[in-house]
Amino acid sequence: MTYRVGIDLGGTNIVAGVVDEEYRILSKAAGKTRAPRPVAEVVADMDGLYRQCVEKAGLTTDDIQSIGVGSPGVINREKGEVEHAANLAFLDAPVVPLLRQRSGKTVYMDNDANVAAYGELVAGAGRGYRDMVAITLGTGVGGGIIVGGKIWPGSYYGGAELGHMVVEKDGVPCTCGRNGCLEAYGSATGLIRMTREKMRQCPDSAMWAQCGGDVEAVDGRTAFRAADSGDEAAKQVLERYTDYLACGVANIVNILQPQLIVIGGGISKEGEKLVAPIRQKAMGVVMSRYSKQNTAITTAQLGNDAAIIGAAMLESAQ
Ligand SMILES: [Zn+2]
Repeated sequence: MTYRVGIDLGGTNIVAGVVDEEYRILSKAAGKTRAPRPVAEVVADMDGLYRQCVEKAGLTTDDIQSIGVGSPGVINREKGEVEHAANLAFLDAPVVPLLRQRSGKTVYMDNDANVAAYGELVAGAGRGYRDMVAITLGTGVGGGIIVGGKIWPGSYYGGAELGHMVVEKDGVPCTCGRNGCLEAYGSATGLIRMTREKMRQCPDSAMWAQCGGDVEAVDGRTAFRAADSGDEAAKQVLERYTDYLACGVANIVNILQPQLIVIGGGISKEGEKLVAPIRQKAMGVVMSRYSKQNTAITTAQLGNDAAIIGAAMLESAQ
């Protein structure tokens, strides 16, 4: 049996896991990122978590074939550097050379959203597919593109930023500095903002009861639960939310027409309540809408484990 370690390096947490040949996670070890810190310190912690999870799995480091890292930001594969990651405050941070030095292992690294997409491809919703796009609806909107079973990171590693396609010209400001990005409307953050806006207009909405009368307590579920009870205002929020997501999905299908689009992140737990309207709206407007065979749209299966599994398997992804 061959074992690999995947490390999910996030702005808040670092999680390392041992993954076997059947894509099972045998053990995990987690710590705080405590950004901003110098890259050498963060890598020292990553190395410590790598050793911890190997020990927890009842293995030794000799049993580990390679280490893979999923990191936020633009990842230069040739240099093994995080060129820029705002939430880590990294600039040209040589994560791969430093971790290779410490661990004595071959180390691979890619962007976190790309890595999560690859995890879903090999072990989750994308099993059996070659061409797949993943979008993750969280605080922001992450994007990963898989072509021919490999991660497609862009010619200079800065592509596949699907969350930053504009879906509302001159819309609300995005974290990237532009206005009207999919991230500003299709993320959980965007849904929460739209839910609050509607609640202020509709004092009688059942959404108020869902959050105990406190707009600060609104989350990504508020509108879904109120809509379940038949609340019209909540249905309008979800109509608008899925309109934006469908716009993004239709753009992806028009440009790439992958075999599969996988929608992940916390909101994707709503399953068909989220995906069915997106599928119906997007696939009805794409150029290929009369084609017999077209892009399938489904929810992710692995949650946060996708990043660990995808990172561990990076050896075959790049
Ligand atoms: Zn943006």
